[in-house]
Amino acid sequence: MASEENFMRAPAPTPKRTVYTEAMEIFHRAADLIGLDKRVRLELEEPDYEHIFYVTAKLKDRLVPLAPEQAKDFASLSVTQVRNPEGLERLADGKIILNGRALLGSDVNISRGHLRLPDGNVYQLVPGESQRFKAYRVQHNQARGPYKGGIRYHREVSLDLFKALAAEMTWKTAISEVPFGGGKGGIQIDPRSYGREELENITLRFMYKLKSLIGPNIDIPAPDVGTNGDIMALMYRQYSDGERERHNMRGIVTGKDVRIGGSEGRAAATGQGVAFCIEDYYAEKGETLKGKTFILQGFGNVGSHGAAILQKMGARLLAVNDADGTIYNGDGIDVPALIAHVSDPKNLRKSVLGFPGAQKIEKKDFWEVQADMCIPAALGGEITADVAERLKVKLIAEGANGPTTPEADRVLQKRGIDMIPDIIANAGGVTVSYYEWIQNKRMERWSEAEVNQRLEHAMKRNYRIIRDISRNQARRSDTHDSRPFCIGKEVDPRCAAMILALKRIEAHYLLEGFSQ
Ligand code: NAD
Repeated sequence: MASEENFMRAPAPTPKRTVYTEAMEIFHRAADLIGLDKRVRLELEEPDYEHIFYVTAKLKDRLVPLAPEQAKDFASLSVTQVRNPEGLERLADGKIILNGRALLGSDVNISRGHLRLPDGNVYQLVPGESQRFKAYRVQHNQARGPYKGGIRYHREVSLDLFKALAAEMTWKTAISEVPFGGGKGGIQIDPRSYGREELENITLRFMYKLKSLIGPNIDIPAPDVGTNGDIMALMYRQYSDGERERHNMRGIVTGKDVRIGGSEGRAAATGQGVAFCIEDYYAEKGETLKGKTFILQGFGNVGSHGAAILQKMGARLLAVNDADGTIYNGDGIDVPALIAHVSDPKNLRKSVLGFPGAQKIEKKDFWEVQADMCIPAALGGEITADVAERLKVKLIAEGANGPTTPEADRVLQKRGIDMIPDIIANAGGVTVSYYEWIQNKRMERWSEAEVNQRLEHAMKRNYRIIRDISRNQARRSDTHDSRPFCIGKEVDPRCAAMILALKRIEAHYLLEGFSQ
C-alpha cells in the first residue's frame, strides 16, 4: 500500500529561495513600508497566469566540423567547390546549415558522409531532425492595462525567471505611467545555434500556440534578449495571418521595424532612457556628462545604443564585457566603430572581442576598472555582493533587468555607490512601446524628435518623483509632483521606485475594485 500512497502525490511545498522570491524581496519591503492593502498584496504576490507549452520544429541538414584529430582520417578527401555559397549559413557554434540548393551544380566529393569545404576543414553531414523547445508566457498583473513585456530567446530561462521578469514589468509600466500591466515570456533556445529559416519556423510555431493567450488589448509582447524587430515581424504575421482586419492588429507586438508600424526611436529607446536618467542625475548636481567615464556590460540593443548616446553627450567608454569576453581602452573605446565591428556579418558571435581599438582583459578585471559609472546591460544577477565590493565606480545605472542581487544592493548602499534602479532606468523601452501601440491604434506616425521629446519628459518626471520619495522631499515643480507618494521617511532609490509603482497600482484596485 505504501507505494500506492506515494503514487501521483505532489510533495508538500517547501518555501525556498528562488530568483522570484529574491526579486520580490523589494516588493515586500515597500509593501510593508506603505501598509499596502492586504488584498492588493495578495493579487500582486503571484502572477495571474503562468503558461508553459512546447514548440516543435524540423531542423535543417547541418555540416558539423570535425576536430583536427578526427579530420586526419580524411586526409585524401579533396575539396568540394561550392558554386552557391549563399546556400551555406555559418552559425556561431561552428556548424553550417546546408540550405537546399547550396551544393547544386557543385562537384561534390563525399567520403563516408564527410566532405571538405574550401576553408580546408572536414565536415560531417548530419541530417536535420525535429526538435522540441520549451516555451513560456507569464502574465503577472493587468490592473492598470493589458499585460506587456518582452520575449526572450535564451538557453538559461525558466518559469521562475519569467515570473520575476513579468513582475518587474508590472512595476515598470506603473512607474512609467503607461496603461499596461506586466508579462514576460520566451523560448529556451540559444538562437545563435540556429539558422534564419529555423528561427523563423520556431517563431511561427511559438506564436501559433501563443495566439489564444494574447491580443493587442490583452497581452502585447516586445523584443528582449535574443529577439529583435525581425522576430516581432514574424509574430505579427503569424498572429494576423488570414484575419480580415489584420491591419488593426499591428499593436499585437511592439518593437517592430519602422517600415511595418514600428515607432521611430523604439530601437534606441531603452538605451536613450538610461541616458536621460543619467543626464538628470548629473544635472541635479550641476554637472554634465562631458568627460565622465563608464564601463558597460552587454553590447546588444540596450548597451550599444546607450553607449552611443552617452558618447554623444560627452562621456567616454572604457571597458565592455559581453557573453564572450571583455575589452578595455583607457583612452576610450570608439562606440560607432565598435558597433560596426559587432554588426559585421563575419562576426558570427556578435562579440566585442577582436575589436582592434581595445585590448582584451579578464572579466574579473572588468569590474575593477575605475570609472564614474557602471552600466549593466546584459543579464540578471551579475552584480553579486563580491562584485559590489570590488566596483570602483560612483554610480550604477541598471540597463538590464535585475542585474544587482539584494545582497549586492546592501553592499553598494554601505559603500555609498549611487543607484538608478532598473524599473526606472530601463523603462524607456516600454515607454516608446506604448507610443508605438498608440500610433498603431490611431494609424499615425510620429517623428523621432516627437518620440524622444515625450520620452525625455516621461523619464525625467518619474525619475524626479522617485528621487523625492527616496529623500522624503514632497514637492510640486513645473515638471513633477511627488506629494502623493512620499512616505514621511527616507528610503533607498530601489525601494522608492517600488513605492511609486505600488501606490499607482493600489489606486486602481481601491478605486475600480477587484474585478480586473
Ligand atoms: P541583446 O540580446 O540585444 O544583448 C544582450 C547582450 O548581453 C549581448 O551583448 C550579450 O553578449 C551580452 N551577454 C549575454 N550573456 C552575458 C553574460 N553571461 N555576461 C556578459 N554579457 C552577456 O539584449 P538587450 O535587448 O540589449 O537586453 C539586455 C538587458 O536589458 C536584458 O536584461 C533585458 O531584459 C533588458 N532590457 C531590454 C529592453 C529592450 O528594449 N531591449 C528593455 C528593458 C530591459
